[in-house]
Amino acid sequence: MTTPLDPPPAPSDFIRDIVARDLQAGTYERSRTRFPPEPNGYLHIGHAKSICLNFGIAREFGGVCNLRMDDTNPTKEDVEYVDSITEDVRWLIDGWADQTMGLKPAGRTPEPSEHEGRRDFYLPAVTGASALNLEPLYASDYFDQLHEYATRLVETGQAYVDDLSPEETDSYRQEGKNSPFRERSVEENLDLFRRMRAGEFPDGARTLRAKIDMQAPNVWLRDPVIYRIRHATHHHTGAKWCIYPMYDFAHCLSDYIEGITHSVCTLEFEVHRPLYDWILKALNLPRALPHQFEFARLNLNYTVMSKRKLMQLVNEGLVNGWDDPRMPTISGLRRRGVTASALRAFAYHIGITKYDGMTDVSVLEHVIREELNRTALRRLAVLRPIKVIITNFPEGKVEECQAINLPEHPEAGVRNLPFTRELYIEHDDFMEDAPPKFFRLRPGGEVRLKYAFIIKCEGIVKDANGAILELHCTADLGSKTGGPTASRKIKGTIHWVSAPHAIDAEVRLYDRLFTVPEPDADGNFKQHLNPHSLEVVTAKCEPSLREADPKSRYQFERLAYFALDKESTPEKLVFNRTITLKDAWAKEVKKG
Ligand code: ATP
Ligand code: MG
Repeated sequence: MTTPLDPPPAPSDFIRDIVARDLQAGTYERSRTRFPPEPNGYLHIGHAKSICLNFGIAREFGGVCNLRMDDTNPTKEDVEYVDSITEDVRWLIDGWADQTMGLKPAGRTPEPSEHEGRRDFYLPAVTGASALNLEPLYASDYFDQLHEYATRLVETGQAYVDDLSPEETDSYRQEGKNSPFRERSVEENLDLFRRMRAGEFPDGARTLRAKIDMQAPNVWLRDPVIYRIRHATHHHTGAKWCIYPMYDFAHCLSDYIEGITHSVCTLEFEVHRPLYDWILKALNLPRALPHQFEFARLNLNYTVMSKRKLMQLVNEGLVNGWDDPRMPTISGLRRRGVTASALRAFAYHIGITKYDGMTDVSVLEHVIREELNRTALRRLAVLRPIKVIITNFPEGKVEECQAINLPEHPEAGVRNLPFTRELYIEHDDFMEDAPPKFFRLRPGGEVRLKYAFIIKCEGIVKDANGAILELHCTADLGSKTGGPTASRKIKGTIHWVSAPHAIDAEVRLYDRLFTVPEPDADGNFKQHLNPHSLEVVTAKCEPSLREADPKSRYQFERLAYFALDKESTPEKLVFNRTITLKDAWAKEVKKG
């Protein structure tokens, strides 16, 4: 029907310029990038920026991009996260690959090669123009290779086993002081490293450290720990290992093993880059080396984004799980009804820079609205109903009114809305003591019911407490499209549904999770939760919404955009408000 909003085919930024330059110069035959999440939480919209950059480069330059679980810390990681990450990346990327290039993930046939009599490690063979590998790879699958590389550093006198405690290691590094164990012989180091692996020592008793320079101005180069003892089972390798490589050691070598050319990460890794390069150089590796490039992470206001804080919201029950539609997680945004194409468009829209900044959440909201305005099917639903009786309309009669599914897209067709004597309109669309500029329904006033008749309010029925029970109206029966008075000019048009035909739906009205732009500015983000971030109402919906489909998006006319929630059933429909039609917060700011 309509095409979802997709970003321009080739954005440009300093990272893509580097890739283009390296390909043109023949430094690499093809670009290989990767997205390397640690499976210790769910992905958030910041990760979406990184995913769109890394997979986007592969897509645009005919390159390869891998999804790699950076799973070197057994105690914090879990298969639940591996599964959610895989699902989220697939959701975000899947259709994208097909859309432009019709590519399937490439076959990964290992090609062993030899170097100086040693095994060099497998480089996946890739066929096709470009390959977005959505089958996850695991850094932990390289533990044997990484262990071999570490052993090679020991053999060449570039790594040593240290007996300092973690606290001593820290203070020695701060002071720039050599460890008393730094000058052990290669034989002793090999023996101790072997015994570390064999499980002879408890956690924390010894570490393997790269022998670089304890006085280096960059503290990351002060003999960093590259292996530590952890008697813990790993979600992917089980009980096989009791020593685990540190992030800095595993990352550059995993990149090398996968033949990564451009290792793109966020700015906080800039200070690690000399170490990244040192390790690769120290091993005297035969193939072209990967290079690290840093860009500014996404910071978004009115939310928090670190996994640690999101985990607190989940664990303390402040939201309903990682995929709560108020969460900035990819799964939360998806559940809320945000489409993958809107997230990709957002990622492209904000661009890639080298300077940290804060992105206003209204930018994201604008991109979502822009797409939904073009794609969401129009429907009528009343969130806070008030009954209307059309006193001059016969009981039992049903008049079909034709409604348009998608303005500007006639191919999306029309549908019939039943009009009857008893209707619901929105409570807000009636006012008893209305100010002059109120162009909806008032006593004695007229309003047009969208796609149907003009009605006039003739009376109000109230209960003993003065609450309105129903409105009595008359309809101008010639005012429907094609009728003699159809062209009568009436200022206001409101939505409605036929009471006997209406179906009930639970509607979850979501708003921003926090009331302030930078919830964690004072380190107290939980104090700034928006108490009104979720309101649940029972709406009266037009009957065609019985066939609502989880893949479609709906605009409840004059209200907002909605999508079915995963908890929705044919017996009990549940809709999530993805986003309002207009930015209600912009008004708040003006008012304030
Ligand atoms: P967090 O800080 O939110 O816990 P993380 O950096 O620990 O996230 P990783 O799983 O290590 O999460 O991240 C995987 C990749 O995503 C890394 O390359 C990281 O640089 C990138 N990334 C993480 N957060 C953002 C962000 N806000 N914007 C852009 N990229 C990000
Ligand atoms: Mg990280």
